[in-house]
Amino acid sequence: MRLARSISELRSLRASLPEPVGFVPTMGSLHEGHLSLVRCSHQECASTAASIFVNPTQFAPSEDLSAYPRDLDRDLSMLEKAGANLVFAPVSDGEMYPPGYATWVTVSGITERLEGASRPTHFRGVTTVVAKLFSLVRPQRAYFGQKDAQQALVIDRLIADLDFDIELVVAPTVREPDGLAMSSRNTYLSPAERRAAPVLRRALDLAESLWRDGERSAEEIRSRVTALLRAEPLARVDYASVADPGTLEELETISPRALVSLAVRIGKTRLIDNTVLPPGSPLLERRTSCS
Ligand code: AMP
Repeated sequence: MRLARSISELRSLRASLPEPVGFVPTMGSLHEGHLSLVRCSHQECASTAASIFVNPTQFAPSEDLSAYPRDLDRDLSMLEKAGANLVFAPVSDGEMYPPGYATWVTVSGITERLEGASRPTHFRGVTTVVAKLFSLVRPQRAYFGQKDAQQALVIDRLIADLDFDIELVVAPTVREPDGLAMSSRNTYLSPAERRAAPVLRRALDLAESLWRDGERSAEEIRSRVTALLRAEPLARVDYASVADPGTLEELETISPRALVSLAVRIGKTRLIDNTVLPPGSPLLERRTSCS
């Protein structure tokens, strides 16, 4: 596995990678969720590139940029074991955003809802850095997690609209044994908050079981899910959404599919999770995960 700390190193190492190249962008502090994407790429592609960059432009000034966990040595050894061949870990923010940097990539529409409504500059940062990384790494496939379902939909739009010749693969959310979706931010939780956090999975389970029992009213599912979340004293609901998986508009009736998304603060930590109804259906209507 080779490590590039600058754009020029990345360009020269990328030139010798066998194709097809699979690419897994991350912010580091890696866990099994990230590694599942790397393994998926390793299975499907001749070589796998990953990036580790805590992208400052996707954090609002009030968010946790400086506190975001970082451990490059640990991340590199995990990536190597999972089968990565090249890792791009820019040595500084200035490598990606040098003085005078002035270009932004913006996807409109779906970025204004859910996470975009709560975090207005977030997706502009994501799409800008992902477009730059796609241009540098030139992968044939890009691997993203369903954990960040709206992000995957935004990247799908970005790929289509900017004509990147890249197949997007969306891999299932990897969870702790008690159902909590793995996230680098879980390390912020105190022991009591950690015990409360699986309430998100229980709320998604409720949405799935209501759907299985024949409930198709999105409002009924939203209100039952919100009530379950509110019953947890440490949880504060940011949103509980039952939306069209294509447009992210809130639904009245589920017909045929819906994306149920949650954003919940447990103490100071904001957690997100989601599921697609009917249970088990893919987020995107084409191949979306490693077989
Ligand atoms: P991040 O480092 O949080 O930017 O995440 C990098 C990639 O890993 C994104 O595509 C995420 O959706 C994905 N990811 C994060 N957590 C999980 C998880 N628990 N299961 C699957 N993919 C995940």
